[in-house]
Order: sequence, then structure tokens, then C-alpha cells
Amino acid sequence: MRRKYVAGNWKMNLTLTEARSLIEGITAGLPADPPIDLAVFPPFVYLAPLAAKLVGGAIRLGAQNCYCEPKGAFTGEVSPAMLIDIGCRSVIIGHSERRHVIGERDELLKRKVLAALGAGLEVIYCVGEKLDEREAGQTEAVLDRQIHEVLGPDVALDAVTIAYEPVWAIGTGRTATPDQAQQAHAYIRQEIGKLYNSNVAARLRIQYGGSVKASNARELMQKPDVDGALVGGASLKADEFLGIIQGAMKAQADDA
Ligand code: PEP
Repeated sequence: MRRKYVAGNWKMNLTLTEARSLIEGITAGLPADPPIDLAVFPPFVYLAPLAAKLVGGAIRLGAQNCYCEPKGAFTGEVSPAMLIDIGCRSVIIGHSERRHVIGERDELLKRKVLAALGAGLEVIYCVGEKLDEREAGQTEAVLDRQIHEVLGPDVALDAVTIAYEPVWAIGTGRTATPDQAQQAHAYIRQEIGKLYNSNVAARLRIQYGGSVKASNARELMQKPDVDGALVGGASLKADEFLGIIQGAMKAQADDA
């Protein structure tokens, strides 16, 4: 049985004071030994100040991005080794805002995934189609491209989680239905099975992301191929994020 994994992507939000109090609020509401995996992804500048509170605890600390080189003349970039150095365990790569707002391409994302894994980080690799692509019946073709261009036998998947995040559901309040999520997740798992093998596919965790809230978390994560959630807006409020965590814990218990 795959362990559910709930992660909060804070994007470019909060002050340091707000970030500290959000961590305190989440930590205060967690059970002593949560039966699921948890992570938060604050902006770069808050990682070091929050590390002291989080390292060694139930919530792993991650970054929203990293560069694909270990060091050097790359102004404004942060290397995977620097993230490890300040206590990060995880990094998000290929978020739709990096793909569609900043303009990152699959070729760069592959180099980032390899660099992050090589440095010892866990990776959440995001995939997902835009609305026009879904409406044109291209969802599977887009997922295929995003999987095959970035993953493959040269990328070990043990420390990779895939987040399926349909772009039309991110920050819009328009959540994919549990059936839509399940269909995409099953397709991703099937493709990973072909690209690697059935054991790797069965072990891979696939999170759903896109307007996840406390009120829909359990139903989404009850689907057999939905192994957790990558949460944006709702991860910025301790009560709402804790509600999602509760939903994941219930879905995990439903699986057992
Ligand atoms: C995200 O940014 O990864 C995300 C899923 O955002 P939201 O939950 O706000 O849709």
C-alpha cells in the first residue's frame, strides 16, 4: 500500500512572520506520529529560517525550484546542494507556473530532475494539461510528452513523486472530479509501467493538485491511483491544510 503524501506549495506568498505562524499552526494540529508523509514548500528566502523548526520533524522542508548546475555563474539561481545544505529534502520541478509563466521547457526540466536527484533531493515532478489541450482531447498526448521527455531509464524513480496538476484546475477553484483525476493518474501509472516496469509503476506515488480543499481531499484521495495532494492556496491557512491532512489520513485508513 502506498503511503499518502500531502504537500503545500506556498508559491510567492506570506511574510516571514506569517510563515512562522503557519508552521506553528500546522504543527500544533498534527497527531504525534502522522501516518502519512507531509511537506511544505516555502519561498527560497524563508527556507533557512524555517529549517530550524522543521528539520527532523514530521513535515519535510522543500523548495519550489532549483537550478541544474552545482555552482558557478548562474545569477539568481540556487543549486540542489545549497538546498541540501540548509536542510531541504525535497524540490518541486516542472510546476505549471514554471512551465507556462516562466517558460521552462522539458529539456531543462530533465536536467533539473537529474541534478536534484544526484544531489540527494526528493523530487515532486509536475505534469498536467492546459484547458484547451483537454478540450482538444490531447490530455494523454501532453502527459506522454511530459513523462517521456523528462523521465526514463536514466532517471531513478525511487525518490520521485509525480504530481498530476491539470492547469485549468490550479488556483481556479475548479477541481478535477475524482473520476477525472483517477483517469489521468491511471494513465500516468500505465505509462510509467511501460517506460520502467510494473513494480516501479506500482510503487510510484502520484499526487493530485488543483484546487484541493478540506472538503474534497478525502474523496479525491480515496481513488485507487491518487496517492496524495499538492496543495497551493489551501496550504496557506493552517486550518484548511490540516483539514486536507485529515482527509488524507482518512483516505489512507479507507485503503487499509
Ligand atoms: C499548485 O500550485 O500546485 C496548486 C495545486 O494550487 P491550488 O491548490 O491553489 O490550485
